[in-house]
Amino acid sequence: MSAPLELRGVSKTYGAGPSAVRALVDVDLTVAAGEMVAVMGPSGSGKSTLLTVAGSLEEPTAGQVFIEGTALSGLSRDDRARLRRRHIGYVFQDFNLLAGLTAVENITMPLELDGVKARPARRAGLRALEELDLADRADSFPDELSGGQRQRVALARALVGERRLLLADEPTGALDSRSGEGVMRLIRSACRDGAAAVLVTHDAQLASWADRVVFVRDGEVVDSTPPLPGPESLLASGPTGPQSGEADR
Ligand code: ADP
Ligand code: MG
Repeated sequence: MSAPLELRGVSKTYGAGPSAVRALVDVDLTVAAGEMVAVMGPSGSGKSTLLTVAGSLEEPTAGQVFIEGTALSGLSRDDRARLRRRHIGYVFQDFNLLAGLTAVENITMPLELDGVKARPARRAGLRALEELDLADRADSFPDELSGGQRQRVALARALVGERRLLLADEPTGALDSRSGEGVMRLIRSACRDGAAAVLVTHDAQLASWADRVVFVRDGEVVDSTPPLPGPESLLASGPTGPQSGEADR
């Protein structure tokens, strides 16, 4: 079976001439089903660009992106949009919830765009909220939710349906460390169900939840190592590490 995500020789240059910015340089990266990869690196190193190119929100200048073995460059614009809606969940740095839609409407929007009828879409949305302990906030608007609740709604939107690839850009940025761990637990659990996840984080502790940490510097993936065990997360979730952390939710 093909990997949910494969980048082959991917480069992305913004602009041209002397002001051109090489945001990604010849990046190779494969993320297997069930695998969680953390991306770390200094500000401006290309982490967000890596995610937007992987999520087909931007086209690479060179190289190929494969989703489940399908080259994005070979797809029409419409097919690419469909694949993005069906298979890729994206959590943006600033959550990007629509203020005029309730929590459950925000979550089900990608399903409805994809032709799922309102009632089954709502059922799936409520199920996703239940898993995040937010069922009672289904009909609340984003400005009636706390930062942590908004974050969970954004995650639910990224995970609803048959998403195979989850891309999250600093999904814990605005959260305290406890909510941050909660987000990691959710991503971990999506991976256990077979999804692949790539998340950008500044926090080595949170990165320790990943199977693999990829370091980006000046647009290049410079190193890829298994994460160091994070002592606090190990303590919090027992001797076998974060993977067994659901029990104490
Ligand atoms: P990170 O997420 O690691 O902070 P980014 O991927 O956002 O880094 O940016 C990588 C480089 O590309 C930076 O130099 C940034 O200024 C530049 N860049 C990002 N997006 C654009 C854009 N839309 N137009 C021009 N330059 C951009
Ligand atoms: Mg960024």
